[in-house]
Amino acid sequence: MIDQKFIRNFSIIAHIDHGKSTLADRMLEVTHVLDGRVRVEQVLDSMELEKERGITIKSQTVCMEYKAKDGNIYHLNLIDTPGHVDFSYEVSRSLSSCEGAVLLIDASQGVEAQTLANMYQAVEHNLTIIPAINKIDLPNLDMKMIVDQIEHDLGFFDEETLRISAKAGTGIEDLLEEIVKIVPSPSGNPAGKLSALIFDSKFDPYRGVIITTRIIDGILRKGDNILLMHAQQKHKVDDLGLLKLDYISQDSLTAGEVGYIVAGIKNVSDIKVGDTITLASNPVEKTLKGYKEVKPMVFASIYPLMSDDYAGLKGGIEKLKLNDASLLYEPDSSLALGFGFRCGFLGLLHLEIVQERLEREFNLNLLVTSPTVKYEVYLTDGTMELVDNPVKFPDPQSVQKCMEPFVHATILVPKEYMGNIINLCLEKRGTQKNTSYLDEKRIQMEYDLPLSEIVYDFYDRLKSVSRGYASFDYEISDYRETKLEKLDILVNAKQVDALSQLVNSDLAYFRGRHIVSRLRELIPRHQFKVPLQATIGGRIIARETISALRKNVTAKCYGGDISRKRKLLEKQREGKKRMKTFGNVQIPQSAFTDILKTGD
Ligand code: GDP
Ligand code: MG
Repeated sequence: MIDQKFIRNFSIIAHIDHGKSTLADRMLEVTHVLDGRVRVEQVLDSMELEKERGITIKSQTVCMEYKAKDGNIYHLNLIDTPGHVDFSYEVSRSLSSCEGAVLLIDASQGVEAQTLANMYQAVEHNLTIIPAINKIDLPNLDMKMIVDQIEHDLGFFDEETLRISAKAGTGIEDLLEEIVKIVPSPSGNPAGKLSALIFDSKFDPYRGVIITTRIIDGILRKGDNILLMHAQQKHKVDDLGLLKLDYISQDSLTAGEVGYIVAGIKNVSDIKVGDTITLASNPVEKTLKGYKEVKPMVFASIYPLMSDDYAGLKGGIEKLKLNDASLLYEPDSSLALGFGFRCGFLGLLHLEIVQERLEREFNLNLLVTSPTVKYEVYLTDGTMELVDNPVKFPDPQSVQKCMEPFVHATILVPKEYMGNIINLCLEKRGTQKNTSYLDEKRIQMEYDLPLSEIVYDFYDRLKSVSRGYASFDYEISDYRETKLEKLDILVNAKQVDALSQLVNSDLAYFRGRHIVSRLRELIPRHQFKVPLQATIGGRIIARETISALRKNVTAKCYGGDISRKRKLLEKQREGKKRMKTFGNVQIPQSAFTDILKTGD
């Protein structure tokens, strides 16, 4: 057991790509956690997909032993936070487990929307913040501009801002010294009643659920009977200890410490991030504050392209769910697509990750319908239905009013793009809440926007109207009244239920046009003409036609080059695999999500 005054609990927070994972790696090196291991870049981002995409989906926490210049050995608990807005509740629970945060700023990018959002969160949690400029090894940096930005936007002086290069390993020890020096040690009472915060959990096939926790007060010992206060469950602690990439078993964990607990729990869904652990025999009266039930915000159906794969898909989703309590699913079926699952996700990125993991890890070809939000639909008989699937939208005659989820968005952008952003937000039914100059060049704009518009193509459009310069962050705020209509799509005169959308009445006509013109690009030509129609309540509001194919693909090859001909045919066959047949029309798998996107 270590004396509280030698513990430091901290996170690294940064805009995406500013170097969080690289810095974590360097810290592990300096503190010898990696000694004797084969070096893998970005150790904490353990999932393949995370490494590839450079985002942290599932946080991993690690305890580093560091001998400081004062001669003492400290336990530095690096609490890794997920790096995306879809996971903001998890981030807030992780920050609650810390006393300090390293705020990284990329020297070539400066302060961005997420940097600010991160800092506000850290301030809300009363963390001691250490600002650090990263990537100082890069050539041609305008350091004065960065220092000015940090002073102006974040309120830190030049003298308190560190300069590091996570890649080259410059300034890492100074940073660790600073953590030891200015981050407060935890202040919980070891003699008090046990209260501990769950801030992460994962499934291990041999040990069951492994909880990651911060002990706030009291002592937790092996063999104790614990009570999970929100879940109202009791379990016996089989093992507990420190996280040093491996599990290092201990006899107890004391106030201030961060570690793992194994307690014979079978299902991650039984563990709620943010829940309070206490002793069943001597419980605290009050739970820790800030607990929230995480609710999925974005919904879509997933179908196997080949109906034989249904069992594989079912098995895959069940496996993913073991490690992802926020993924919801239930059986779903569609006239055209057969059997599949209706799933709920935290956001669009979460959806993409789940889809990609299912396809990769379980070798499936999937069709994912376009994502939608959850609407509250109030009926004339006084009841309310939650509708997250266009197919389930009630008869319009019986609908009294509809409510949709809104977000509060913060956009940072160079001032020359301000007009474009205003137009975009207006088009997306946004209301401007606040605009302020960060400095002579950059503006911070705050908007209330419908989540359904964010799900649609907001992010792509924002990047394109600002030439990539705008950065963006949002949080879910409330439900507001809206007018909804169900837009149906007919392909070759047959309604394809999986293409139906719920849209705002004012935008319905425009959306209908957009979708049929996108489909005209996305569906390949057939031997016959394929009419495409968008309808509302049976009334056609937009139409397009895909003209018939005239010649064979191989005709291009002038008979000569056989291998090229074969390649073309193979490509055609490959393409076919990823198509789904509706009536006699083949629609590519990607069309279902791509109809929402703006054309390339
Ligand atoms: P994260 O998204 O915040 O986790 O960022 P990463 O650690 O994945 O880094 C993003 C990119 O920046 C990677 O290509 C890193 O190699 C690079 N990078 C990180 N730190 C430095 C640095 O100090 N100097 C340079 N030149 N590149 C860096
Ligand atoms: Mg990363």
